[in-house]
Amino acid sequence: MKEKVLILGAGYAGSVVANKLAREFRQKIAKDELEITVLDKSDTSINQGGFTFLPFGLYTPEDIIRKRSKLISPRVNSIFGEDGEVTAIDIKSKEVGVKSGKKYNYDYLVIAMGARPIKDAVPGLADDLHTFYTSIEEAMEVGKKINSIEKGDIVISVAAMPIPCPGAPVKFTFMLDSYLRNVRKNREQFNIKLLWPMEPIGPPEFNKLVSGLLKEKDIEVKRSFPLGEVNASTKELSSKEGEKVKYDLLIAVPPHKPQQVLSDSGLTDEKGWVPCDKNTLQYRGPAGNHDNVYVLGDNGPADVLKTGIGAHYQSLVVSQNLINEIYGNGTKVPYEGETGCPIIVETETPTSSGQAYIATWNYGTMPAPFKPTKMGWYVYRMYYYLHWDMSVKGLF
Ligand SMILES: Cc1cc2nc3c(=O)[nH]c(=O)nc-3n(C[C@H](O)[C@H](O)[C@H](O)COP(=O)(O)OP(=O)(O)OC[C@H]3O[C@@H](n4cnc5c(N)ncnc54)[C@H](O)[C@@H]3O)c2cc1C
Repeated sequence: MKEKVLILGAGYAGSVVANKLAREFRQKIAKDELEITVLDKSDTSINQGGFTFLPFGLYTPEDIIRKRSKLISPRVNSIFGEDGEVTAIDIKSKEVGVKSGKKYNYDYLVIAMGARPIKDAVPGLADDLHTFYTSIEEAMEVGKKINSIEKGDIVISVAAMPIPCPGAPVKFTFMLDSYLRNVRKNREQFNIKLLWPMEPIGPPEFNKLVSGLLKEKDIEVKRSFPLGEVNASTKELSSKEGEKVKYDLLIAVPPHKPQQVLSDSGLTDEKGWVPCDKNTLQYRGPAGNHDNVYVLGDNGPADVLKTGIGAHYQSLVVSQNLINEIYGNGTKVPYEGETGCPIIVETETPTSSGQAYIATWNYGTMPAPFKPTKMGWYVYRMYYYLHWDMSVKGLF
């Protein structure tokens, strides 16, 4: 009998799993013994990591989008649009419904539907929202704002955790400082403030490095500052505890949550995220324990770091365990929390040398002391091209 793997979401994680399985099971697929289906509401893939660079002209929108038909193996049954937009998931009866009314069943399910910004979760935020976190268009708008403001307080606020890539707002803050200093050459006209919802900024060595550099670059930081309210008319925001900060330009990261369909289907926990065993990534939650349902990427548990690097490692583990399961060899490989955070502290311009580092760690081992380098800058810049032809295709 034909076995069916159904993947919900053809973003970073879903594409890697689809491509790895398609390569491994080319014989079974050709003999019609196995079917791999991926569902997504959109036929266009966006490398969200590139959003951070768009405001500074370091990538163009074309650099960070590709048609999914060019990224996912033709051996995969790829379904996009209304036939791919998931509207209901019933993991007890192993059935998924989509917007067009069709239904899909499966033997193995992979839930990789990412996270979504909740713009109205903070009162007033939607009235004055400039953000590079949500779309190409909004990131480009942030660039226009940065290029037109002449002086004043630029406030970067991360409303709440968890968000995808918690390091990105820090990287953005350093890139803004570098851009104003080396490109616009008017840094002294601005106060840059970073409002951070927690006390530490990343793991201890990351926090240490970033804290020292923020001070050195005269960037003010307010920690434990979850965003409570924004008043667009007085250009003032306040923390949940009521501390107030004035701004001339607010660049904010809204709170994030998984897609609505996941909570509507009764799959999320009390924090609103999709729970799973943190090593096997198999679903463990209000809908029961399901060994045939894997949870990976940004929609996963609140306390598993949400990064593209992490999503990639999780995809490798889930693909390998699905391969083992389908072959019936009984072998399991664990996800051990492998993740990372690329940090940029200076951009490359005619008068400055790019400085970056890709810090990596896992559940048990925090990053050792590190120093951003010029080589790190080039590696990270280059990665955005490798992303399409190597990472998403699951070649490593
Ligand atoms: C500004 C920013 C900067 C970042 N920088 C970095 C970085 O430098 N390094 C790094 O490692 N990570 C970075 N990340 C994080 C990285 O982009 C994510 O961790 C990664 O994309 C997660 O992959 P995913 O597959 O879980 O989700 P996604 O890639 O978001 O894919 C989810 C997919 O689900 C689909 N979907 C949603 N709803 C439905 C539905 N109802 N039906 C069908 N399909 C649906 C979406 O269309 C999408 O294709 C950054 C993120 C942001 C926002």
